Amino acid sequence: MSGAVSRPGADSPALSVVVPMYNEATNAIALYDRLHAVLEATGERWELICVNDGSRDETLMVLTALHQRDTRVRVIDLARNFGKEVALSAGLDHASGDAVIPIDADLQDPPELIPELLRCWKEGAEVVNATRRSRDGESWFKKTTANLFYYVLEKVTRIPIPRNTGDFRLISRPALQALQRMPERSRFMKGMFAWVGFRQATVLFDRAPRHTGATKWNYWRLWNLALEGVTSFSSLPLRIWSYLGLGVAIFAFLYMMFLMVRTLIFGIDVPGYASLMVVVLFIGGIQLIGLGVLGEYLARIFEEVKARPLYVVRERLGFSQDAVDHAETLPGR
Ligand code: UDP
Ligand code: MG
Repeated sequence: MSGAVSRPGADSPALSVVVPMYNEATNAIALYDRLHAVLEATGERWELICVNDGSRDETLMVLTALHQRDTRVRVIDLARNFGKEVALSAGLDHASGDAVIPIDADLQDPPELIPELLRCWKEGAEVVNATRRSRDGESWFKKTTANLFYYVLEKVTRIPIPRNTGDFRLISRPALQALQRMPERSRFMKGMFAWVGFRQATVLFDRAPRHTGATKWNYWRLWNLALEGVTSFSSLPLRIWSYLGLGVAIFAFLYMMFLMVRTLIFGIDVPGYASLMVVVLFIGGIQLIGLGVLGEYLARIFEEVKARPLYVVRERLGFSQDAVDHAETLPGR
């Protein structure tokens, strides 16, 4: 990828705000209004890229109307629901700003923080993370599981993934270009943002509750996101089995010696049903877990090997030919 291709025309905006949207018709206008106020105040040229991720409501209609009112609102309509991480990637691929800011559509990430992100960027940071100051208002269970997740992730991956940081951040063009060279289909964006490195800065903020609508995340989806995070950035779960197997085998050998000696000295003692049962079930369980872990990785390898395009665009509104050409030549798209 040459630098020349990825810096579109001279009239390209300095700021690109990218929003993945799934059933966000009721939030789109409010989001636009708040972003508009903030972005105009920065005095920079800006664009707002809204990715309609196969919404089942009027999101696309609302976005089309917004685009007609203000052509800086650019719309990518995906052919179906591809999920948030892919929708966000589609938006990032089409962004032509020197700084790109992904943000959620539900106004949980305050647009008013953008000037602060810009300030850090202008002071030299290449990635500015927006980190939640606290997780007040969340259940004890959610906080504990989130903490546990970050703890495990830190231990098994060697990339420092910032805690309590969503997709809301500022990415400068060099970092974005690095990100765009990652063709994988398992897209754990938090990890990918961290993986590319660059000079990072952090800005703290308080996360608001959703403006309207409901979250798409339940514990099952969060669990799968956690799996995605670990499997995308670590092979430790795969490699651990040799050691676990070795440990169990050594223990079994020692126990066998003990049983032999005991039998030789005290003779055969028949009762042993419970201990046998325990051993059989334990080993069976361990083996199944090992197979399951293999399956997790195998399924992901299968996804990658098929090398399907990351997303399919039905329609684009308001993009320059340069931006479209650039997006279509990225690896794995
Ligand atoms: N989203 C998306 N595709 C999906 C699910 C969600 O584009 O399949 C978008 C959604 O519209 C929102 C953002 O991703 O802009 C975050 O979603 P949500 O608010 O449900 O997540 P939470 O804030 O609860 O983590
Ligand atoms: Mg949300």
